[in-house]
Formats: sequence, structure tokens, C-alpha cells
Amino acid sequence: MRIEYEVKLGFKDVMFRPKRSTLKSRSMVSLERTFKFMHTGKSWTGVPIMAANMDTVGTFEMALALQQHQLFTAIHKHYSVAQWNDFLEQAPEGIENYIALSTGTGENDTEKVDELFKRHPRLKFLCIDVANGYSEHFVHYVQATRERHPDIVIMAGNVVTGEMVEELLLAGADIIKVGIGPGSVCTTRVKTGVGYPQLSAVIECADAAHGLGGQIISDGGCSTPGDVSKAFGGGADFVMLGGMFAGHNESGGDLIEVEGKRYRQFYGMSSATAMDKHVGGVANYRASEGKTVQVPYRGPVEETVLDILGGIRSTCTYVGASTLKELTKRTTFIRVEEQENQVYND
Ligand code: 5GP
Repeated sequence: MRIEYEVKLGFKDVMFRPKRSTLKSRSMVSLERTFKFMHTGKSWTGVPIMAANMDTVGTFEMALALQQHQLFTAIHKHYSVAQWNDFLEQAPEGIENYIALSTGTGENDTEKVDELFKRHPRLKFLCIDVANGYSEHFVHYVQATRERHPDIVIMAGNVVTGEMVEELLLAGADIIKVGIGPGSVCTTRVKTGVGYPQLSAVIECADAAHGLGGQIISDGGCSTPGDVSKAFGGGADFVMLGGMFAGHNESGGDLIEVEGKRYRQFYGMSSATAMDKHVGGVANYRASEGKTVQVPYRGPVEETVLDILGGIRSTCTYVGASTLKELTKRTTFIRVEEQENQVYND
């Protein structure tokens, strides 16, 4: 047994130190980024915030709404091939730049992925997503997928440490998804005791990925626009959001009315709710590692998007970054033991 004594940090442990700036207004800040991907050589331009591949977040409807602001959606993996065909027939020009197909690593998953990429050559992104990205099987799966699809941008995860980021990039992934246990409806840390505070995971994994020319996605744990800024400040290239995009018109999840107030169901992809719905229940050798909650219904996602983008622009003006790309270079985090004043929170 070993203990590492260096303290690892989450978003709640830091704030940005303000810096002198020549920026006059938030409107001068550009949040657009362009990335070139290491295996495909393809590039992408957009605002690097993503809806999570959960069936109560990463829906086709969400993708259409987020595309309006150049945001990305990792579409959840439970749509059928027929649903994908219908969607792609009707969806507007350019949607393929803002969506990824998601997949697990089972045999049926592979067949579906191959069929969809063959049928829709305009699709460009694939998100290979497993709860534990540390298994050898997963690395082999990424390798085999890269061999079959040399031109597709592959996102793979989840992991939280630099050596595994490097291994997955070398195996053929372009972008690594980082986060074990920080999610709003995740119970992995409670059920297993495994995890890594998200900000430190991002800082360490970004360093490993950038050294090889890859990118990372900070996945999970953001509950405010300030957290999204902190993930970018720590070096994340993309930030993936579940809970912050839940509860809207475009999110999936049943609408529920309790005493005149409206809620939408939101649940983890390894919750008993998700497993009952998609795989006929929780297998008896495993525990559910996700929660089911009801979040207040929040109307169209547009307002939430503007609130998040406004918050990040404001962070940039406080530290003197005129573009999102500059934010990490302009970031000095201070270690804190307080966050917002909660005296008037209910
Ligand atoms: P959030 O933005 O809500 O804090 O986190 C979203 C992320 O939580 C997802 O992108 C995914 O990585 C993770 N997640 C989603 N469902 C589950 C689950 O059932 N169990 C665990 N451990 N993580 C989940």
C-alpha cells in the first residue's frame, strides 16, 4: 500500500486571481477555438462546450439547439440506426460538425458504429465511452476502431491520469475524456471509493495530452459557469456538461408535475433507471453507480447557454484573456476555503 500526500484539487478549492487587463468589454472576448486532431489531421472550429452523452442530455433536439451557438453534443448511444437515419435526413446543413456518435465496447456496439459510419460518410466524430478507461480491453478496442476508421475523430475515456491519457492517444484516440466520479448523478466515489478531484485531473491530463498533440475533455463536476471557466483555465480543451444541460425542453427525461411545479427526470447512465430502461435491469454482479433525480424544468436551453457563455467571457475579462485559447496562460488559481456568500440562498 502507498499513499500520495500531494493534495488534489476540485473546482471548489480554487478561484481565479484577477489580473490587469486592457479588455474594455466582455463582447471583445472570443470563445471560438480551432483544434487540429492528431490522428486525422482534420480541424474543427467552434465553442468547445459539449452536452454529455446521456439520454437525459445528449439528444438530437439538444444538438440542434446547441449547434446554433457552435456548441457540440455527444449524442447518447441508445438511438437506433433507424432513428439516426431519420435524424440525418432531416437535420440542417453542418450538424455533422457538432455531433459525435457514442458507443460502448460490445460487439453489437461495433456493428452499429460501422453501419452508421458506412451509411453516413458525413459523420466525423465518435465517442468511445466506458466508465473505466483503464482496462486493456478498452485500449485494444480503441486501436481496432482506429484501424477500421482512419479518418474519424475518436474521443475516448474516461481516465484521470497522464499515463493513461498517453496510452489512449498512442492507441489511436484524438481526444481523451477525463473524469472519474465528479458527475452530478454519479455515485462511483461512494460505491467504490475510486476517483480523482476533477481540477487536478484536468491539469495533469491536459499536460500529458498536449505534449503529444492531443486534446482533452473535462467531463463532469461543473455546476456553475465559473466551474466551466476553471476547467478551461486548468487546461481543458473541451468541457462536457450533464446536469447543467438537464431539465430543458431539449433534454430527454420524463416531465413530472408535483404540487403545480414542473420537473424533468435526470439520471446517471449507470443508474438503476438507465439500466432498467436499456438493458433490462442491473446485473447482479454489479452495483448501480448513478442516481436518479428530478430537476426543476427550465424551458429552452438557449438561456442556459447564454448564461454559461456570458460567465466565461466575464472570467476572460477579469484575467485579461481576449480569447478562450489564452485563458489557461492567463490563469493563476488561488487555493481557497470559501466560495460564494450563501446568506441569501434558500
Ligand atoms: P455532470 O456534468 O452532470 O456533473 O457530469 C456528467 C458526466 O457524469 C457524464 O458525462 C458522465 O461522464 C458521468 N456520468 C453520467 N452518468 C453516470 C453514472 O451513472 N455513473 C457515473 N459514475 N458517472 C456518470
